[in-house]
Amino acid sequence: MHAENPLRKLPSVQHLLELAPAAEMCVKHGRAAVTSAIRVVLGELRSEIARGAGRVVDGAAILERCDKLVAARRRPGLRRVINATGIVLHTNLGRAPLAAEAIAAMADIAAGYSNLEFDLASGKRGSRTAALEPLLREVAGAEAALAVNNGAAAILLALSALAGGGEVIVSRGELVEIGGGFRIPDVIMQGGARLVEVGSTNKTRLADYREAIGPETRVLLKVHQSNFRTVGFTAETGIGELAGLAREHGLLVVADLGSGLLRPSPGSLEPTLAEALGAGADLVTCSGDKLLGGPQAGLILGRKAAVDPLRSHPLLRAVRLDKMTLAALEATLMLHRDQPDRVPVTRMLAQGEAELQARAERLQSLLGYGNLIASEAYAGGGALPEERIASRALALDLPMGADAVAAKLREGAPAVVGRIADGQLLIDMLTVSDAELPALAKALKAVLG
Ligand SMILES: *Cc1c(COP(=O)(O)O)cnc(C)c1O
Repeated sequence: MHAENPLRKLPSVQHLLELAPAAEMCVKHGRAAVTSAIRVVLGELRSEIARGAGRVVDGAAILERCDKLVAARRRPGLRRVINATGIVLHTNLGRAPLAAEAIAAMADIAAGYSNLEFDLASGKRGSRTAALEPLLREVAGAEAALAVNNGAAAILLALSALAGGGEVIVSRGELVEIGGGFRIPDVIMQGGARLVEVGSTNKTRLADYREAIGPETRVLLKVHQSNFRTVGFTAETGIGELAGLAREHGLLVVADLGSGLLRPSPGSLEPTLAEALGAGADLVTCSGDKLLGGPQAGLILGRKAAVDPLRSHPLLRAVRLDKMTLAALEATLMLHRDQPDRVPVTRMLAQGEAELQARAERLQSLLGYGNLIASEAYAGGGALPEERIASRALALDLPMGADAVAAKLREGAPAVVGRIADGQLLIDMLTVSDAELPALAKALKAVLG
């Protein structure tokens, strides 16, 4: 007789569910989660045994493996990270932590029904951005306003509605890729417009635009170079000059400002939104999370005659904001109007060195390790990537190497992402909040031992 098939010795799903630890797991996680984990583990055991790599184990050991699996499956894919990079608007880390007011507004609207597309005064259908637009106009200083899903959608919608079927003239120095393969020439094409490149990589003059204007031209487009710079022997045509030329030919000037600025910033040469519009842009677009430190959004501001065609374009529906984002955006805009210091990103960028020093000292004493150093942090966010900010960091000089420690910190709970400079791992204080310090110290200790 041949030996009994070992697969037969595996307990059944039903048998496992009747064991005491399974009952406990069911109370904690629900019967459906436990049953499905048991099925997965039994399946894994079967193939391990078939490969000769496994052996039959008892019910308790199988359930232990199930318990780990249930826990792993409950861990969200999208989770909190402590940003110790010192880059405030870090695109890969979700850009902006929201203000308490924005979070509360979002939770309130998410929990119930709302007047999203319902006019409470008349009892009739309403517009989803009716309440937002006056606020956005006021905060940005524009005649008309519209908000969509993100900055890329704002440009796509603007070019589709204003230049679809016609030509868009852009400087060769501004045909940039912004990130994640988002390239301006592709967006123009997707919008159904034809790209007309003018000038050279380093110099584009007003005459270059003038010579390229033809009967099909609709828009003169100005694009912020974002995370790219032309320096040295350069010439660029400003919005004001372009606007003059556009008026002569009945064209529109659209400017993608990237991050944009609400108020003049002492260290920056960027125009504010109001200045770009004042200089003659018909429409400006920017990224709402970069500009406001709010939720992901794309903002479109400008003259009413330039914004209105976007409202009736079919793409608008595809790029519209959802109710939670609208709630968070409205709350964030109110803060910019009334109490800008309550917006976390604004507050982070305004921190003094004494505050950063005190936070670094607190972390150092919680940790009992690390050298406190002066560091250069960044605003980030595309349009201001090189704006340096004096900060403080804890430098961890590590025998096992900065890369290895950084990898371990990323796997921790919470995950911590630092910045590596000159072979040292820096834990920058600009982007860490006081409330995060205990969890940060614990995560660091777990890795550093
Ligand atoms: C960031 C950026 C965008 C895209 O904005 P998203 O909100 O990320 O879609 C477009 N143009 C410029 C110049 C940018 O910096």
